[in-house]
Amino acid sequence: MIISVASGKGGTGKTMVATSLALSLDSENVQFLDCDVEEPNGYIFLKPEIKKEFKIYLPRPKIDIKKCTFCGKCASVCVYNAIAIIKPEERRKGNVLFFYQLCHNCGACRLACPENAIYEEPEEKGELTIGTVNSKMFFAQGKLRPSESSPVPLIKALKKYIKSDKMNILDASPGTSCPVVQTVKNTDFCLLVTESTPFGLNDLNLAVKMVRKLGVKTAVVINRSDIGDSEVEKYCLRNKIPVLLHIPFKREIAVGYSNGIPLVSLFPEYKQVFKKLFHDICDIVEGKKA
Ligand code: SF4
Ligand code: SF4
Repeated sequence: MIISVASGKGGTGKTMVATSLALSLDSENVQFLDCDVEEPNGYIFLKPEIKKEFKIYLPRPKIDIKKCTFCGKCASVCVYNAIAIIKPEERRKGNVLFFYQLCHNCGACRLACPENAIYEEPEEKGELTIGTVNSKMFFAQGKLRPSESSPVPLIKALKKYIKSDKMNILDASPGTSCPVVQTVKNTDFCLLVTESTPFGLNDLNLAVKMVRKLGVKTAVVINRSDIGDSEVEKYCLRNKIPVLLHIPFKREIAVGYSNGIPLVSLFPEYKQVFKKLFHDICDIVEGKKA
């Protein structure tokens, strides 16, 4: 099974929930993939023993302008609008421009070019770190290269570590942009972590729309549930979204979080709570519960 843990906004306690869920289950069967590649911080709580680190390279298209006839076929196949063709004119040489910040390294332009004028060179996208937690739980995280603008290829590389016979927990970036979509899509379930505030509600609404568009089953965890108002509860009721867990505010949790101490280490009784959360998720995935 693949469970993604996401939140419409940052600071809701998403990683706290994802790591606590992972630590509450049978470690041998759990894989934790930190897909928040711009700011991975699951390792702070899980403290994995690192086994290997390696860079991820993807093919970057380049042009051999001498071969180019400026037919425009490469630009027309690029769905990301990452190519501009400047046709030659009487006093101006032609050119093919790649906008690498838009490029998703899909290779379509190279295949489309009838003149073999496009070739590829490896481009570093970031780093993958592989390890284990408590010598049992598989851990992997991606870290985007600082100047790199698209986290999507790195998340794709990370998701290759998903194993269908394991319980895969994917910690997504906050928000609802491309990296979150890339993380959540094709997962069996998305747990949305929110808080009972107007901002929390606004961003939860965006996250629910995104998850539903992807056709992924979802439910909500409300963190700091005793602070704020009841609008998130009412929203979930109206939209038939199960609220599977309320985590009340506790100063010790906040202090532990800032010191990298998982919730279930601070309050071991929460292990049972997260086990129940997991069973509720399984029931929803299997259709036993709405
Ligand atoms: S498809 Fe090839 S020949 Fe045509 S414009 Fe692009 S690079 Fe040039
Ligand atoms: S590799 Fe794909 S995304 Fe990048 S420029 Fe070529 S067609 Fe566009």
